[in-house]
Amino acid sequence: MSLVIAEQVRKIYRTGETEVEALKGIDCTIEPGSFVSFVGPSGSGKTTLLNLIGCLDKPSEGTLIVNGTDIAALNRTEGASFRGEHVGFIFQDFNLLPVLTVYENIEYPLLMVQQIPAKDRPERILRLLKAVGMLEQKDKYPDQISGGQKQRVSVARALVTNPKLVLADEPTANLDHNTAYQVIELMKNMRDEFNTTFIFSTHDQKIVGEAEIIYTLEDGLLTDRQVKGGNGNG
Ligand code: ADP
Ligand code: MG
Repeated sequence: MSLVIAEQVRKIYRTGETEVEALKGIDCTIEPGSFVSFVGPSGSGKTTLLNLIGCLDKPSEGTLIVNGTDIAALNRTEGASFRGEHVGFIFQDFNLLPVLTVYENIEYPLLMVQQIPAKDRPERILRLLKAVGMLEQKDKYPDQISGGQKQRVSVARALVTNPKLVLADEPTANLDHNTAYQVIELMKNMRDEFNTTFIFSTHDQKIVGEAEIIYTLEDGLLTDRQVKGGNGNG
């Protein structure tokens, strides 16, 4: 079964008397283990769509099924536990907690999500630190590491709860091109190692070429779908 099924998803933001139709009827399916990018100019709806898939917000109309769950039907508490169990997030500005070390930042989501027993946590954190190449920096604080290293830590933090899906909204926007490329490659390697589905948004055409499935968004509509090979394309 597809991990994400969107049918005629619309999102209308209402502020006072003005309405913005940010998504105008999105249809797409995303298979488990795929490496997907949403590309499009600023204002095209990338963040809105990622927020809906990540259950941070609800569609105004249409159907959105993620991992078999109808997102629109969840209340706040159910939505929070859905995110905690199934979704990891990576942000443009990293969002690491400055008072926690690299190790503690990765550990942090585990304190909220209970299904990984405490005795298994250090092994899991160390495995991820190793996988993202940050083992030697584990006792440093975020202000002691580079932007690229911060995003590596974010990737590990997103994966530590063993989510089905990782959503990354413009994860490379604050990185230079080489570092951006390396972070995308790291995400792809993590997909290979953990079979986690990754969806990232970008407006950078060079970076988007690294995705295996590329959805183009324009003015709230998906206008193109390109498949570049790799797994999870079914
Ligand atoms: P992107 O991430 O591609 O830049 P967004 O999803 O952020 O696009 O925005 C899509 C459209 O929705 C834009 O016109 C934006 O101004 C509008 N929008 C986004 N968030 C809100 C909000 N919270 N309230 C009102 N309008 C919004
Ligand atoms: Mg955005």
